[in-house]
Amino acid sequence: MSTRTSRTARTPRTPRNARSWDLIVIGAGSAGLPLAIRAAERGGRVLQLEADTRIGGTLHWSSGQMSAAGTRLQAEHGIEDSPAEHYRDAQRIAHGSIDPVVLRRFVDEAAPAIDWLMDLGFVPAPGTPVAGEAHEQYSTRRYLWGRDKGLSVLEALRPVHERLVRAGRIDLRLRHRMTRLLTDGRGAVVGVGAATPDGEAEFRAPRVVLASGGYAAAPELWQQLSPRIPLCSHVNPYSRGDGLVAARALGARVDGAEKFLNTFAGFREDPADPRSGSFLVLSPGARKVWELFVDHRGRRFMREDHPSIDYRERSLLRQPGTAMHIVLDEAILQNATPITTQSAAAYRARFGHHPSFVKARTLGGLARLLGVPAAALRRSVREYNAAVDAGVDRRFGREFLIRRIEKAPFYGIKAQGITVLSPAGLAVDRQLRVLRQDGRPVRNLHAVGEVLGFGRTSGDAFVGGLSLTPALALGKWLGETLPVGRAGR
Ligand SMILES: Cc1cc2nc3c(=O)[nH]c(=O)nc-3n(C[C@H](O)[C@H](O)[C@H](O)COP(=O)(O)OP(=O)(O)OC[C@H]3O[C@@H](n4cnc5c(N)ncnc54)[C@H](O)[C@@H]3O)c2cc1C
Repeated sequence: MSTRTSRTARTPRTPRNARSWDLIVIGAGSAGLPLAIRAAERGGRVLQLEADTRIGGTLHWSSGQMSAAGTRLQAEHGIEDSPAEHYRDAQRIAHGSIDPVVLRRFVDEAAPAIDWLMDLGFVPAPGTPVAGEAHEQYSTRRYLWGRDKGLSVLEALRPVHERLVRAGRIDLRLRHRMTRLLTDGRGAVVGVGAATPDGEAEFRAPRVVLASGGYAAAPELWQQLSPRIPLCSHVNPYSRGDGLVAARALGARVDGAEKFLNTFAGFREDPADPRSGSFLVLSPGARKVWELFVDHRGRRFMREDHPSIDYRERSLLRQPGTAMHIVLDEAILQNATPITTQSAAAYRARFGHHPSFVKARTLGGLARLLGVPAAALRRSVREYNAAVDAGVDRRFGREFLIRRIEKAPFYGIKAQGITVLSPAGLAVDRQLRVLRQDGRPVRNLHAVGEVLGFGRTSGDAFVGGLSLTPALALGKWLGETLPVGRAGR
């Protein structure tokens, strides 16, 4: 193993107890866990560095919704399905914008990964698989999750991971944050540098896999990659884009930022912190929409109760800064269920006490607080009230026209698109080798999971399960195929 490094400012020490490893895995989340488990089970000597104090990564946050075609579970339900159908369906929903190479590899590996999870004890929630839930529907029932969201997946993986750690086959180092990739001077990766509880250290191995997740908890990086989308995220705070930054420093290609789609919708709990995103309950399936939505000009811009989540998300995405205002009056506040996930009393108390929840005696006053032209807001409300009276909304076709907006005081919520994912990521080939700008692979460097970008695995749409399942399935596949043990030495 080479001792020369390309970017060694000081001379960090290599840990005394350093062993020789076949593989360094950065991250112990959805992709890193199955990867380390399968590589170690094949006799690989795996070093797994994890920045957090615990394993699991985004599994602690994720809704845990997955999709796979050709699973045993489907067979038990008499559902006929195939990877080719999964591929076609996913590209249909994503308008052909998913990376075809990664998608093809994924659909082939998805069912074996779900079957394996079930062998490890994962129990699908009753009623699954279904064709669709929170996102656009698949054409068949291949969408599933556990009772306890992402944690159901983690609890299936944890015992076998712990066993391998105890047996010394996975060398797990918590609170070890990879800070850079080490190269041999000719561009081949030979290890990583990391911030550890004992200071900076270097770790060397013939192969490194970045399974370090997304970057939606890194406001500066987000702003660099998506300058027109103000960040409002609800993600694991360790999703800081470290893998992406370290690979980019070696000339790796980062793309896909344009394949962004926001979730509908949320607001910042702390207006100064883009990572403090909270969800608003605006899906007509979950709660009737009593309120009016207006844009920055005070005008309606969409059918508020449209049944298609894709329509609602894209309507918001077209607004400058993905921003909109939700308008309601006293009667709606008293009668409708809250838009936040709080109790009715806590929801009502927010107005006038949180910068995103405003209250005024008149519509003109509300317009001032929302920063929209007063005349336009009054006109929007007048036209909406006329539609309520007529029982028909000719402009947008809204169906739920329960009551006029007329009883003071008036209330407004400054909402925006919220994200749980990072669109851009590292370009890879079919072997998941990280690619340079010129399309050549960076030697000895692979990447898997959200570090590839949500745009690569799900395109410009939310295709059910197409972030978590590719992380799990391709992590497992890399663990089964990377040379380790005798073959890796
Ligand atoms: C609220 C929410 C709901 C979601 N719901 C769904 C869903 O239902 N279906 C779906 O498909 N997707 C969903 N997703 C997305 C999906 O869960 C993630 O994309 C996926 O879990 C990411 O897996 P990963 O292994 O790439 O990253 P992670 O699971 O985040 O793992 C990365 C790990 O790397 C560690 N790490 C980061 N940097 C370093 C470093 N420098 N050194 C060492 N370790 C590091 C992190 O601490 C973390 O443990 C959701 C996401 C969120 C936030």
